Amino acid sequence: MTPEIKGYLIDNLCILQHHLAEHYQFNQVIKDSNQQCYWQQIDNGATAPLLTDKPLSSPKAFFFAERENLLIFDGQCFRETLPTPAPFVLFGVQSCDLTAISYQDQFFKDDPYYQARRNQCLLVGVDCIHPCENGFCPTVDAGPGVRINTADLILHPLPDDNWFLLATTDKGKEALLGLELGLELAYGHYMAQREASLQQCESEFPSDVHITAGIKQLNSNTITATFWDTVAIQCLACSGCTSLCPTCSCYSTRDIETAGKVTQQRFWDSCLYEGFQREASFNNPSVNAGARVQRFWNHKFSDAFVSEFGRYGCVGCGRCEQTCPGVIGVHSIMKRIEKNA
Ligand code: SF4
Ligand code: SF4
Repeated sequence: MTPEIKGYLIDNLCILQHHLAEHYQFNQVIKDSNQQCYWQQIDNGATAPLLTDKPLSSPKAFFFAERENLLIFDGQCFRETLPTPAPFVLFGVQSCDLTAISYQDQFFKDDPYYQARRNQCLLVGVDCIHPCENGFCPTVDAGPGVRINTADLILHPLPDDNWFLLATTDKGKEALLGLELGLELAYGHYMAQREASLQQCESEFPSDVHITAGIKQLNSNTITATFWDTVAIQCLACSGCTSLCPTCSCYSTRDIETAGKVTQQRFWDSCLYEGFQREASFNNPSVNAGARVQRFWNHKFSDAFVSEFGRYGCVGCGRCEQTCPGVIGVHSIMKRIEKNA
């Protein structure tokens, strides 16, 4: 047994959920009567984590707020408006989204607003044991099993409503204090069972040949500006992809003046908007829609970013494919690139 990881067999998940809900503001993905899945704060955990559905919105807004005040100037002094959230738990985060949080942790490592929220969060991951629609996490090393260094606690579903629980960080172990859990002696047995079930899940994913071929092609720098201009005719600049993508982090700020006060506000922006890269001199390095679409996909799959972040900027969640009204989400674009080769 790896010394720093503890494993437990759980036959009643509600006990863990209620225990965490006593100490943290509790958030879980729920499915409503219209079959829509989304993150919601609930008083206590009552339902098992979703295993085949993923929420349309990733949890990124829990840390990188869609809109927030950064500073207030009252005419004499600047005052920071750092958030002070109570401790909260995200219960049942899938591996792709946990990998994205890890990626964002690097991007926002010196951002006190992001870190103020992130430090208060306990991440409980859940292994996927069946592929989700449009997902290709194994291709980009982001799932389907939760990567050990991306969550505080990891849940793996076992038959008969049993769960194998891994406590991987001190924060995770502390969160379990006071809960009656027998240390699982058959740790190796359940780890092997987890491994086999994750391998089985990986084998069920559809072919990813177009993704791997597309990544290769993107990095060969042989795709013409004409190709990108043609594809970009289908980009409506709706920002659906950048809003839902768990690794997108573009933002802008604006100053809002009210009653003698100036508030600096940060808000999500999108690299697919025409004005996003426009400079004060009015020079715009991505004035063409084609250049903007090219830039977006380079940020997701360029080898150049691997040296900075240790991985590609895409975690294979498939949300851009699901949402893009112009049908140029990840699978569609990679198939176009592959055909263009
Ligand atoms: S992309 Fe992978 S990790 Fe994400 S929900 Fe789908 S199967 Fe799970
Ligand atoms: S580019 Fe698309 S598939 Fe990749 S992480 Fe972003 S939304 Fe998910």
